[in-house]
Amino acid sequence: MICALCLEEKQPRPNTHYFSDFLIKNALNEDGKSDREKGMYWSIDTESPTVDFNFQRNASPIKLEKLFGRQTTDEENEKSKSQIIYSVNDKFCTRCEDKFGTIETAFQEQVLPKFRGANLENVTQVQLSVDESRAMRLFALLQIWRGYICEEDILLSDEVADYLRGKIFNEDNTDLEEIPLSATYLETSRPEGDVNGDAYKTGNSILVNHHANINHLLLNDFLFQQTEHLHVPFDEFFGFNTEDDYVDLFNYQSPSFDVKIIPDSQRRIKNYNYHSYTAKKLMATTYWTFLDNYTLTFKKLPSDREVATFMSEVANSEDMLRFTDERLREREAHFFKRVKNEEFRN
Ligand SMILES: [Zn+2]
Repeated sequence: MICALCLEEKQPRPNTHYFSDFLIKNALNEDGKSDREKGMYWSIDTESPTVDFNFQRNASPIKLEKLFGRQTTDEENEKSKSQIIYSVNDKFCTRCEDKFGTIETAFQEQVLPKFRGANLENVTQVQLSVDESRAMRLFALLQIWRGYICEEDILLSDEVADYLRGKIFNEDNTDLEEIPLSATYLETSRPEGDVNGDAYKTGNSILVNHHANINHLLLNDFLFQQTEHLHVPFDEFFGFNTEDDYVDLFNYQSPSFDVKIIPDSQRRIKNYNYHSYTAKKLMATTYWTFLDNYTLTFKKLPSDREVATFMSEVANSEDMLRFTDERLREREAHFFKRVKNEEFRN
């Protein structure tokens, strides 16, 4: 394999995380615990009618059974052994993985303690020192660059991609100020009276997306946004961005780096916006698939009453956002039986 960082022919290092594990693992694990390989997660693709459910080895069988409504199959168990979330097997070599580690450690030591676990009451913005700013920039751009190598949803020009590759390869965190980059921290606190351990930490999401020339990388409690030109239209991104400080927060050409803080109460509202957007998208695609499958089965269009019944039953089911493709198809098949039994005949 040719390693994507050093560009040399090397033995690949398997299971390399391309989004830093310590950043995202709380959001993925079943109780917000940070055990490795205990994740259960839904990857949300808004173009598909359902959410793909995946789990990693060591996820608790009881919870899995509850979610699936059945025991997991051998095939699924096998898949969970070989797959680690947001990781790749054939992109980077061991020596380059060590370089990633150095960049990640600098961020963990110099920057992370200013946010995670820090008292951010009434703080709206944190300004990092020049050294901290450099560590922040290289770390955030490392996530973006690895995302670009490993995901289709992150776009970079060849020029910027190669520039970043060089900076990461040399572990050089200087001269990154020309790349507009913003970081937003989502304060994540335990709700008052909450006794469910670390479960509240799983309320955040992972979202990778390129829209209107901006790469958005929502990684648990950090949102990184990066563009190549400051002349981009304002994008509210589920309410995480505000128009008045939008451009400033890209920290363009600034030796010090400002991080916007979203207080916990606001974080929950914005997460809600995101989930409701996702739900609407899922409902729309569910509708079109239902229509397709109905016409295929019955060679006619469904009645308004049938559509309304099916959609409201899906929408009102507790775990609508957690439907696997399999469960939605089952639900459809069950509904079609009711149609055949003339339940909806006027
Ligand atoms: Zn390499």
